Amino acid sequence: MTDLLITNGRLLDPARDLDGVMDIAIEDGEITEIAPNIEQSSAVRVIDAAGLLVTPGLIDIHTHAAAGIRMAGREDMMADVDTAGVHSGVTTILDAGSTGAFNVGGFVNFIVPGTVTRTFALLNVGTMGVARAPEVRDADDIDIDAGIAALTARPDVLVGVKARMVSPGIKTLGIELPKAAKKIAVGADTGAFLMVHVGDIMGQDPVAAELAPQLLSEVLTEGDVVTHSLSFQVGALLNDGRLLDEAKVARERGVIFDVGVGKANFSFESAKQVMDQGFVPDTLSSDISQASRHAGPTHSLVECMAKMLALGVSLEDVIRMTTSRPAEVLGIENETGTLTVGYDADITLLEVVDGDFLFRDETGGTLTGSKALRPVSTVRAGEVIPVDFGPRPWGWLPERA
Ligand SMILES: [Zn+2]
Repeated sequence: MTDLLITNGRLLDPARDLDGVMDIAIEDGEITEIAPNIEQSSAVRVIDAAGLLVTPGLIDIHTHAAAGIRMAGREDMMADVDTAGVHSGVTTILDAGSTGAFNVGGFVNFIVPGTVTRTFALLNVGTMGVARAPEVRDADDIDIDAGIAALTARPDVLVGVKARMVSPGIKTLGIELPKAAKKIAVGADTGAFLMVHVGDIMGQDPVAAELAPQLLSEVLTEGDVVTHSLSFQVGALLNDGRLLDEAKVARERGVIFDVGVGKANFSFESAKQVMDQGFVPDTLSSDISQASRHAGPTHSLVECMAKMLALGVSLEDVIRMTTSRPAEVLGIENETGTLTVGYDADITLLEVVDGDFLFRDETGGTLTGSKALRPVSTVRAGEVIPVDFGPRPWGWLPERA
């Protein structure tokens, strides 16, 4: 008996070279058949997806979703997991270091069990995470043993370590800051990776630019992630408009480059500068918080996807950057991230909307585009979940130009 049948949609899964109108059958939370014209009479529920794009469930590997456990009165700094997740068309999210060794228990014990979205987190190298930003001021804010203990205790949720290359920690500790994070990741022996935020948004210290090449060549190894790859900030991948050679070399070694659109870590100009040098990032993430969901410039992952389309990245690549590639980063590529029989039934239904859209970045930059994406429905492990009204007063779509 088929629990759910999604019919007539345009299935787009670049990782599987799949692009065409087909049906998907789901049973017990797994995809059981992908074919044209699957017999409908045996299905408990049928969703007619005619005119819609049916993709693997979207995966957002840079979010701040520790809603409610940061500090009273500043709850807007964090998004709610399912608001940024399943109710936004996103089936899996990674919280990128909102908490550290001394407060991550709040996340793993009280937030994760209540989420429908598949939820992972990175442990911030700073013991309090960004509950107190800057999270690393000096060596006292790092506890390697406590970090290893946390990763070892909860490898089901804690898949890696996060370090931000920001002031004042990069000044007081230099390269020892990301090295300490790497020590935690390696020391846990759970296969944890390191995600590093590049770009000194906290101080614009020139030391950030000095450390970036060293970080890329000496600290990061295969499977580690650089986030904010399209940033204009000091210490990101651009130096006087030129992409660091060390970034290209690191990529050849298997280091992953993520976008992390967020707020002050992205501009259309710096994005063009990086990508015009042939460097299109591997993964696209939102770096979303509750504040940015409402005030922008990042309202949703689907909006970030539309921004990439407007920058000239193909729809296929944008889907790959938000499905199969992030699944590989999380090590769940054999369970989700593609439309494959036997995999988790994590599926996103999207509407591609044509129009004259206007996108904004934090620097005052604007960009126009002719396509936007609107999430219509989310399927997480076979369960159909409605998306919400959307972050804007008028719903999901970007401003009209
Ligand atoms: Zn972030």
